[in-house]
Amino acid sequence: MSTLPPLRLPHAEILEDPEILEPYRFDESHVAGDLPLAVVKPKSREDFRELVRVAKAEGFGLVPRGAGTGKAGGCVPRGRVVVVDMGAWPGGIQVSNQNLTLTAPASAWLRDVKSAAEAANLFYPPDPNSWPLCAFGGSLATNAGGPNACKYGMTRHWVLALDALMADGEIHSFGIGSVKANVGPSLAQLLIGSEGILGMITSATVRLIPKPAEFLTLLLPVENFHELLELPGRLCANGFLPSAFEFFDTAVLSELRESGPEEARRLPGKALAILEFDDRGCTSEAFIASLTGALGPVSEHLQLASESRQRDQIWNIRRLTSAFLKERHPKKISEDIVVPRDRIPAFFDGLEKLGIPAVTYGHLGDGNLHVNLLAAGEMEPLELERQVMDLFKLAVGLGGTLSGEHGIGLAKREAFLALSDPGQIELLRGLKRAWDPAGIFNPGKVI
Ligand SMILES: Cc1cc2nc3c(=O)[nH]c(=O)nc-3n(C[C@H](O)[C@H](O)[C@H](O)COP(=O)(O)OP(=O)(O)OC[C@H]3O[C@@H](n4cnc5c(N)ncnc54)[C@H](O)[C@@H]3O)c2cc1C
Repeated sequence: MSTLPPLRLPHAEILEDPEILEPYRFDESHVAGDLPLAVVKPKSREDFRELVRVAKAEGFGLVPRGAGTGKAGGCVPRGRVVVVDMGAWPGGIQVSNQNLTLTAPASAWLRDVKSAAEAANLFYPPDPNSWPLCAFGGSLATNAGGPNACKYGMTRHWVLALDALMADGEIHSFGIGSVKANVGPSLAQLLIGSEGILGMITSATVRLIPKPAEFLTLLLPVENFHELLELPGRLCANGFLPSAFEFFDTAVLSELRESGPEEARRLPGKALAILEFDDRGCTSEAFIASLTGALGPVSEHLQLASESRQRDQIWNIRRLTSAFLKERHPKKISEDIVVPRDRIPAFFDGLEKLGIPAVTYGHLGDGNLHVNLLAAGEMEPLELERQVMDLFKLAVGLGGTLSGEHGIGLAKREAFLALSDPGQIELLRGLKRAWDPAGIFNPGKVI
């Protein structure tokens, strides 16, 4: 059981009852962790100072945790660690119209960050499909991105400055709240996407833009999803940049139609794309006519979501797809590889040649494909491992990567180490040693 010395943190809540600690062994990945020594919810700089001091003295790790929606096992405890639940970290959300910025604590819900921007008629674009459920801090630490990354990029493109707890036990500030700052390499950017291995983000200032005034949301049903693959490029060549270009292949669409939520039962086509535009004037007849022309014959069965209720329904289905497939196939494995858009056809050819029985959906607009091995639970572990590794090698060989959104954590660590340039891994390890010499922050993750 717990070998933790008594923690004397002036303001933090400390949880030690094994029953309460049990859920902290998991996130939304398939990785199960160890029972942590304790869960701590810090509320002050003094709490952090003392926690870091004891962690170094007693040799235990500190695992940052936001809302636990991660899909790579990043906040899952391994070994002798205390989970640091950032949910009680104090602070409010502040929006500045003059600076076009928003500042929020890591504990804020991402949904509240997005709504605060909208309440000021501004827009914070990062939209991981978990935005109603995840924490702002978790979205920064994982560099989250969602459907609109094809137009707006990922979280890191919006972060101007942040505060983070470092290995000296103090909170340091990195960057300033302005788009212009040019004083050497950006340490704030190093912390974005670092999955808690370099320090703990306590708050951040992000850039905002004016809120889009109108949306055109379209369903594009096709007979075969291969018909969709060249469309992102064709649209751009004709001056259209969708704010989302998502797709479901035939197998995923059939599952949704057969047993998905009520709205999903009416989804058209053998395969389907969801397209969205948020340009000024995108709902005009002229825009739609020009778009239809650019899409060509494939637009024959195009359907427009004419009311915001329909738009919400469509996005609701898309957002719930991951959870829905998981419910139907609890042991499925989902990988979120990326290939450059012009290599997507080659990727699907390669998948077929390898004989990997996968179904896919995801973000066609940026080449981030959610490849699901639904029968993973019934496969021999070694065969499953081989197929997943072949999948990663295929993506990397085509100029892509192992993860577009979810990160490395524990789930992809081995593959990341095996498939990366050893020189790059050495540099990363050197960085970790320099920032965290005692190795207290999220030990055993990523590298
Ligand atoms: C249904 C569903 C849909 C999803 N869709 C997407 C998607 O479209 N795009 C996407 O990018 N992700 C997606 N995800 C994954 C996940 O929601 C995101 O990675 C999210 O950003 C994680 O936030 P969290 O607060 O839950 O972080 P957690 O899961 O708690 O933590 C994630 C990682 O960040 C670290 N961490 C957390 N807080 C901090 C902090 N304050 N400082 C330092 N490190 C910290 C943790 O140690 C861990 O390594 C999805 C997940 C689900 C369940």
